[in-house]
Parts: sequence; structure tokens; C-alpha cells
Amino acid sequence: MMKLRRLLALFLLLVVVLPALVAHANTISDKQKELDAIKQQMKAAEQKAAQVNQQQKSVITELNKLEKDIDRTSSDLRTIETRLRNTENELQMLNRELADTEARLEERNNQLGHRLRALYERGPISYLEVMFNATTFADFVNRFLLLKTVVNQDVIIYHSVQEEKALVAESKASAEAKQQEITSLRKQTAIQKSNLEKRSASRTQVLTQLNQDKAQAQKAYNELNALAQEVDKIIKDLQAKNSTGQGTGTFTWPTPGFTKITSAFGWRTHPIFRTQEFHSGIDIGGSGIVNRNIVAADSGTIILADFLGGYGKTVIIDHGKGMSTLYAHSNTLLVKEGDKVVKGQAVARVGSTGNSTGPHLHFEVRKNGDRVSPITYVKP
Ligand SMILES: [Zn+2]
Repeated sequence: MMKLRRLLALFLLLVVVLPALVAHANTISDKQKELDAIKQQMKAAEQKAAQVNQQQKSVITELNKLEKDIDRTSSDLRTIETRLRNTENELQMLNRELADTEARLEERNNQLGHRLRALYERGPISYLEVMFNATTFADFVNRFLLLKTVVNQDVIIYHSVQEEKALVAESKASAEAKQQEITSLRKQTAIQKSNLEKRSASRTQVLTQLNQDKAQAQKAYNELNALAQEVDKIIKDLQAKNSTGQGTGTFTWPTPGFTKITSAFGWRTHPIFRTQEFHSGIDIGGSGIVNRNIVAADSGTIILADFLGGYGKTVIIDHGKGMSTLYAHSNTLLVKEGDKVVKGQAVARVGSTGNSTGPHLHFEVRKNGDRVSPITYVKP
């Protein structure tokens, strides 16, 4: 029985009391640490997306080039097809011409043979016929010479047709060579085009994958962002609960002599995701600002003077009436929690601690825990 009670006591301690104690220990610093861890993860998601963006750019560049190459090859192929069709037409015409020349040659050959036979075979007969029938010898000679001239003419024509045939045959051979050459060129170009198309398809696949990767990184970032806002709200509530200080109701500029606002309060566009990000204060910078005094914007009580994760060394002053101010990234803290400060009193020195790219003061004003535009309360 005792044993069971002890176990029950232990159970109560572990399950009921301890978590409550842990929850109670949720200070601003703890929550801020949690927020910083989330922001670290957001940064990783951002970097992943930036990397994917870079890869996407290079793949898109390559795809554009491939697209151009494919267009050019297609155009080459069309030119080649046209040349091939022209050569084929030429070849058909030459074939017809050759057949025509051959026919004429055959005809001439026949005519020549006919006349030669007439001259040489029947010549002697004609001669005898002339000898017996011609009225005069001159008449015989005239008829013989006429026949001979006709035959000579036939021989000249025969030779010229033969030359013509040789020329046509030559043209045909050269057209055939051209046809072969163009056909092989067409084959090569078609292979080239097909290779380019294959590469383009594979690159498109890579691009699709990259798009998915980017969407995933974006989703992770959005989830973390939502979580960060939740933690942010808890910090806000913790700050709102503190209302011990008593301010004058008006604020003074927190960095005397340094009035350059390098980043304003409000929404700004994220460079990679193109989403909107909220800048919760104003950044005050300028050369020579490092180690210069940060002064209390109004009188109040220090509710935090500590390293606050991404904020670096930070001071939060409660001015009462729901107003508080925050001073981040300082090099040196000049106050401690619980201190009472007066308006214009130095509380820290400008630095670049925490998540900062150079010496500046990140200055926030909260009204009932909500971040409000500091410029509404202080003027440089
Ligand atoms: Zn800032």
C-alpha cells in the first residue's frame, strides 16, 4: 500500500508538478532562445531555397539555349528537305532529258545507217543507174555529191547528239552525288535534333524536381514562420504583464547625435521567397556609432538587461501605462534588471551583437505588448 502511494506521489510530481514548474520558468529569455532556434531553421530553409533558385536559373538558361539549338536544327532540317526536293526534281528532269537524248540518238543512228546504206550499198547501183540513165556525167556527179553532203550532215548531227547525251549523263551523275550528300546530311541533322530534344526533356525533368524542392523549402519556411509568430506572441504577453515603471509619457531619441534610420519599421519583401516580413523596430546606424551611448527613451524600470539570442545584448525598459521600449545589438550593458532609470540616461552602448551585420541600434516600442512604429513616439 505504501509502495503504491509513493508511486502515485512520484507520478504526480513527474506528470503534474514538474511540467507546471517548467512552464512557470518560461521567462522572456527562454522564449527568445526558442525563437532564435526557429529563426535559425528558417535561415536554413532560406539558404536551401536560394540554392535551389540558383540551380533553377542555371537549368533555365541551359533549357533556353537548348530550345534555341532545337529551333536552329529544325530550321536547318527544313532547308535540307527543300534542297533534297529540288535535287530530286532536278534528277527527274535530267532522267527525262537523258531518255529523250537517247531516243534522238537512236533515231539519228537509224537515219545515218539508212543513208549510208543508200550511199554505199546502192551507190554503185546508182552509179550504174547514172551511167546508163543519166543524161549527162555532170548530172551523175551532182546527184552523188548531194547524197554525200546529206550523209556528212547526218554524221555531224549524230556526233552532236552523242555529246549532248554525255553532258546530260554527267549532270545526272553530279545530281545523284548531291542527292546522296544531302540525304546523309539530313540523317545527321535529324540525329542532332533528336539528341537535343532528349537533353531538353531531361533538363525539364530536373526543373520540375527543383520546383518541388523549392516548394518544400517554402512550406518549411512558412511553418517555421507561423511557429515564430506564436513564440513572438508569448514574449509579447510576458512583456505586457510587466507594468511597474512610471514614464513621463513622451520619448526622447535613443542615440543622441545619430539619426540615420537604415531600416524602417514595417513590412518588407523577403529577397528569396518574395514573401512579406515584418521589421519590428527601426534600425539606427551611421559611421562612428559604435560604442556610443544608447539612452532610455523615457523613465522607467529595467525589465531585461541580458543577452537575448538574435537581439544580442538587449535592454527592455518598462515605462508603465502599457509602454515599453527595447534596445538591441549593444556592445555593453550599463544597467541591470530591476534598475530604475530616468529619461535620457545611458543604458547601453551601440554594438553588433546577436543577429546583426554591423553596428546599429535596433529600437522597438511596444504598447500593451504590441510593436508599434517608433517614429510615432520619437523624432530624430
Ligand atoms: Zn532591426
